[in-house]
Amino acid sequence: MSCTSQVLVLNCGSSSLKFAVMDPHDGTVAMSGIGEALGHDEPQVSWKIKDERHSSTLPKGTRHTEVIRFLVDTILSQHPALRDHLIAIGHRVVHGGEKFSHSVLINDAVVSAIKECVALAPLHNPAHLAGIEAAKVAFPALPQVAVFDTAFHQSMPRHAYIYALPYSLYRDNGIRRYGMHGTSHRFVTERAAELLNLSVNEVNIISAHLGNGASITAVHNGRSVDTSMGLTPLEGLVMGTRSGDVDPGLLMHLGSRMDFGLKEINDLLNKKSGLLGISELSNDCRTLEKAATDGHDGAQLALDIFCYRLAKYIGAYHAVLPQVDALVFTGGIGENSSLIRHKVMTQLSGIGYAVDIERNERARFGEDGPISTDQSAVTLVIPTNEEWVIARDAAELVPPDTPNHDPSTRE
Ligand code: ADP
Repeated sequence: MSCTSQVLVLNCGSSSLKFAVMDPHDGTVAMSGIGEALGHDEPQVSWKIKDERHSSTLPKGTRHTEVIRFLVDTILSQHPALRDHLIAIGHRVVHGGEKFSHSVLINDAVVSAIKECVALAPLHNPAHLAGIEAAKVAFPALPQVAVFDTAFHQSMPRHAYIYALPYSLYRDNGIRRYGMHGTSHRFVTERAAELLNLSVNEVNIISAHLGNGASITAVHNGRSVDTSMGLTPLEGLVMGTRSGDVDPGLLMHLGSRMDFGLKEINDLLNKKSGLLGISELSNDCRTLEKAATDGHDGAQLALDIFCYRLAKYIGAYHAVLPQVDALVFTGGIGENSSLIRHKVMTQLSGIGYAVDIERNERARFGEDGPISTDQSAVTLVIPTNEEWVIARDAAELVPPDTPNHDPSTRE
């Protein structure tokens, strides 16, 4: 296989590890895969290379380190052209706290800073640290870069990120809005600027990332100025299994009147609420759309609430921004559900939104473009590509003396 410079992108979750080898110039994926059920009884790894799919069962208890070993010893060893063209490793890191507003080359100080943020992302950051450690052992010559989900939101002004709580909780404990999905919001911001023929530092958008997790961001002059996720990913929009915004008094009510413990409250709000909780059927938007068509009342109510709450946030972010060049839908639901987009835009007709039915139906996964009528507020569908942002950032941060260093990847 002939190939140009490649970046290995690693996304280590608490019990999974997604990997991809990608060309940072154009986002072409040469190989991708996932290790799942890590730490459980039957861990599996599956991968795709040259359109061929493979999978393998891994020994019980396999964790991130062993998956990276498998990647090196079993997958990449059969594809030396790919391995030999790697110039860097890019790691998705969920939480960088206030320390990182950009992607960085990983060194000991960065590792320590990611450790300090473990309290803010107790499931994710330890997994990222394990992945970074294992990747350093497996690829000692390659530079490693951390790309943070929180980084894009570090531009928020204080009035957007400080909660109306005693200020000491922020000063002494770092309790504030951090926001997530920053890599996705950044990608669609850059792509929206291209589609709108604007430079990134003059584009103003409202970016709605709607997947299993969902968040919305107000972007002013290419920078995040407010976002719906908060200290944790629980705040904001209705999600697959997360409640999004609720009255904080609910927590006391559940604890004191209904004897819920902290773990039960956590499970209720994070795993049993949202689309799943309302519909009593599924967290999956496709399933709900079909059920609603078949007359399932819970499914219909879940979709109605999802759209209503999203429309309210969009309205609020019109108040945040001096001007909105485009509303952007992205993520699995945002890219694929013409129904959700239609409902939300109809709800927003009072502030100038109108869906072009044909464009909305035509917008398919992998394509981007407008779905609004020519006379109405511009609305775009943009498929997100967080892996490509990670690969690009990693390639840009490669020091010049690195083996295989390709200067054309630097801007
Ligand atoms: P994650 O946050 O896990 O990355 P995704 O971005 O993949 O999630 O989004 C998953 C959601 O996208 C699911 O609710 C799924 O039902 C929804 N989705 C995917 N395709 C469609 C479709 N064609 N119509 C409606 N919803 C869809």
